[in-house]
Order: sequence, then structure tokens, then C-alpha cells
Amino acid sequence: MPSEWAFVSVDMEIANICRAECLLCPRDSITRQTGIMSEETFKAISEKLVREGSLITFSGMGDPLSHPMVFEWIRELRGSGGDVGIVVNPASLGDTISPALVQARPNVITLSFPSLRKDIFERLCPGTPYDQAIARAMELINLSAGNVGLRITGILTEMNQDEHEAYERFWRDMGIPSYMVACHGRGGNVRAPGVYERRDYGAKTGNCGLFRYHTFITWEGNVLACCHDLTGTALLGNLVDSEICEIAVRKSKMLNDGISFTVCMQCDEPLRNSNPPIEDTPPQNRKERRTFFRKMKLKNRQQFQNS
Ligand code: SF4
Ligand code: SF4
Repeated sequence: MPSEWAFVSVDMEIANICRAECLLCPRDSITRQTGIMSEETFKAISEKLVREGSLITFSGMGDPLSHPMVFEWIRELRGSGGDVGIVVNPASLGDTISPALVQARPNVITLSFPSLRKDIFERLCPGTPYDQAIARAMELINLSAGNVGLRITGILTEMNQDEHEAYERFWRDMGIPSYMVACHGRGGNVRAPGVYERRDYGAKTGNCGLFRYHTFITWEGNVLACCHDLTGTALLGNLVDSEICEIAVRKSKMLNDGISFTVCMQCDEPLRNSNPPIEDTPPQNRKERRTFFRKMKLKNRQQFQNS
């Protein structure tokens, strides 16, 4: 299990390409290179992460289902004793994708389903008809039952500030945990007047829960401050060349000195301002990890509602 807080949870961007056109995705402004992870890079970093006991989540600024090796890599990670999750969206769940995803047996699938209000959903996800998205979500729910953990996440925007109770009830009635997160500007990169208005969290970034408890790795193996860095300049090293402890030391020094990346200065990600429970040592097993992140989520939600 992880010896380093920053590697309790790792977001691995196996591809930063995507065919969807979500309104709130700043992917078009990406200036770092686009591509998909090679087998060599995957092997080099996944061995280190499985040894460390990190929860690896295929996510990032792209669609992990666009990678041709995605299902094989999930199986490999599970086969070598690793824990792996994946974030997917309804636009990519067509044809045979959902059955193949469930058969690969990730520990958990997170389905991003922005809103249950048809007009808002279709504004946020142009190109994905709401009825089709709901049908795909239902198919995934049925396939996952008893086989794979599934949770669903939505987005609270200026248009649906009051949606979260009805949203969570809808999915809960089907036995699926869900939560809505406050829309934010992905490091100052989102522009969507009327849908998202930027909050001001000031200049202090030392408490950023995303930086402290998660590590973000690009398809090239680069470790960035987080996935909101579209330029690749908030670089902490490359995990193919470096050891986990080297990156962790850099992160922890930066937390003490204050994170000074440009992307952080214009960030209004709710986790940036989090004040999560501080335990002495990182969670040592799956149960402790689940409890830790559940506590953090609750605390962050209360903090956001009070702000
Ligand atoms: S599915 Fe994800 S990566 Fe693709 S456009 Fe939407 S938010 Fe961006
Ligand atoms: S402050 Fe914002 S941009 Fe910086 S690491 Fe945290 S979430 Fe990412």
C-alpha cells in the first residue's frame, strides 16, 4: 500500500484524444502534445504504481476508451494485483463498448452524466442525444450489477444549482451511488458565460487536495500538477525515468513552499481550497482508502456549501 500520500490515487491519461464535444471541456485549448500511451510507457509506470499500491484511474484530458489497449491494460493491472478505475462518458459507450468494459473488470467505473435535465444535458453534451445517453447508462447499470463497481457523477452549473438532491435520488433508487460536483474552470481554461462563472479562491494554493492526494500522469509518463495543465509546464518529472519517492518529495516540498504554477493561480477547482482530514499515514488497504476519500468528499461538500 502507498508509502506516499501523493500516490494514494493516480490519474493516468492513457490518451488525450476524444471525439466528444462537451461544452465545459477546454481540450481544444490544449497545447501540450496529443497522443496515446505506448506499451513501453504503460509497462514502466504501471509496474511502479502496482508495487506502490496506488489506485490507478484511467482519466484525464481525453477519452480513455479511445485507446485500443484499454481493456487489455485493465485486465493486466487487475491480474498483477493492481486496483484500477476508469472514467467514461455516454458518448463513447455505443455498440459493444459497455459489455467489453464490464468484462475487463475494473474495480470501479465512473460514468460522467452531467445532468438529468434533458435541455441542460444536451447543452452540455452537444452531439449526444439525452435519450440515447440514458439508454446507455441503463445498459451499463444492468451489465455492472454484481460484476463491477459503478458510480455516476454530474455537474452543478449556473443552470442547475438546485439539481443535486433529485439527481442523487434518481440514481440511488437504482442502487447506484452518485454525486454532483461544482463546475469549475479547469485551471482558468473554461469560458462559458451563463453556464459557468469563475469563483475567486485567492492566491493560496497550499491546501490543494488534488495536488496532495492525487498524482496526474500524461500519456508520455509526465507528472503534471494536475490534468488542468493544458500546456504541460506544471511539470514535476517523468515517471518512466524517476522513482515514485523522487516525485513525491518534489510534491511535498512544493506543498510546504506554496504551489506557484501559473495554472494554479487561476484555478477555482473546489478541491484547491479543501481542508481534508490529515491522517498520520496514507490508507493502508482498500477499505481505509475508501473511508479516507469518503470523509474527504463529505468535508469538501460541506465546505463548498458553506462558502
Ligand atoms: S468526454 Fe471528457 S475529454 Fe471528451 S470532450 Fe467531454 S469532457 Fe472533454
Ligand atoms: S491548484 Fe488547481 S491547477 Fe493547481 S494542482 Fe490544484 S487543482 Fe490543479
